[in-house]
Amino acid sequence: MSNKKIGVVGAGTMGNGIVQVCAIAGFDVVMLDISGAALDRGMSAIQKSVGTLVKKGKLTEEQQAQALARIKCTTDYADLAGVDMAIEAATENAGIKATILAKMDQAVGETAVIATNTSSISITKLASKIRNPNRFIGTHFFNPVPVMSLVELICGLQTDGLTLDTAKSFVAQIGKVSIVAKNMPGFVVNRILVPMINEAIFVLQEGLASAEDIDAGMKLGTSQPIGPLALADLIGLDTLLMVQEVLYESFNDSKYRPAPLLKEMVDSGNLGRKTGKGFYSYS
Ligand code: NAD
Repeated sequence: MSNKKIGVVGAGTMGNGIVQVCAIAGFDVVMLDISGAALDRGMSAIQKSVGTLVKKGKLTEEQQAQALARIKCTTDYADLAGVDMAIEAATENAGIKATILAKMDQAVGETAVIATNTSSISITKLASKIRNPNRFIGTHFFNPVPVMSLVELICGLQTDGLTLDTAKSFVAQIGKVSIVAKNMPGFVVNRILVPMINEAIFVLQEGLASAEDIDAGMKLGTSQPIGPLALADLIGLDTLLMVQEVLYESFNDSKYRPAPLLKEMVDSGNLGRKTGKGFYSYS
């Protein structure tokens, strides 16, 4: 594939990360959001992140300037005309995404691939919002995008082989690795990771071991770089509960029931690092 121009809708945590890696890889990128303020926040995050890469010697000042010059900020969907691929990375809300995808569909040409970075909404269902659902695919990046190597590619019922090949080639061109998954809640990584963290919370709740010992056990016994409870604090306990509830409700299987302690912690407002307290305290 020779994707040269990419559109990204949503300039938040994930969107600006995707824009950054595409611009550094040499793509022209259109970054779209609802307001100038949201775009400014996205651009500031990119400038800061790219600046760090320069300080670390991973990028020259010339490469930095070239990458930033490839990014065009806009609130106008018409600017997505001519992109080879457009990725939706806006707020995780099915209604918002449906509206955005319909606008993207009108703006991009008939052969462009349209993708979504959703974590939990059905790719098959979102595909039904566009005229040619065959060219729709899930591209699930991991946070922080500039650091994490993986992109899960999720095929909906309608996704065709050409679209998957285009997405695989795009992921390779931005220097990341793809795995391919069918459209099922949690895809692959969250389907395994989130219930594992939930089980760690059950273990804590049952008083089998302290938080420190659970994390030390999983780090030293299974070579994980971070223990499940520390990871829960990093992800955010509200986000974690949301994903676990999606699994529970979608599969209608009691094995996915959220740990009552997780629910209680979310009710208490202690959501992990972002609130300064979760399973651990952060100053
Ligand atoms: P975020 O809240 O940081 O950013 C969302 C952005 O969408 C904001 O800039 C907002 O202004 C914009 N937006 C909202 N409504 C819009 C509209 N109508 N049109 C255009 N832009 C609009 O969210 P995020 O964490 O970047 O998540 C984005 C997507 O990525 C979600 O689908 C989420 O599930 C998924 N995701 C998130 C993570 C993560 O760790 N944060 C990881 C993988 C996937």
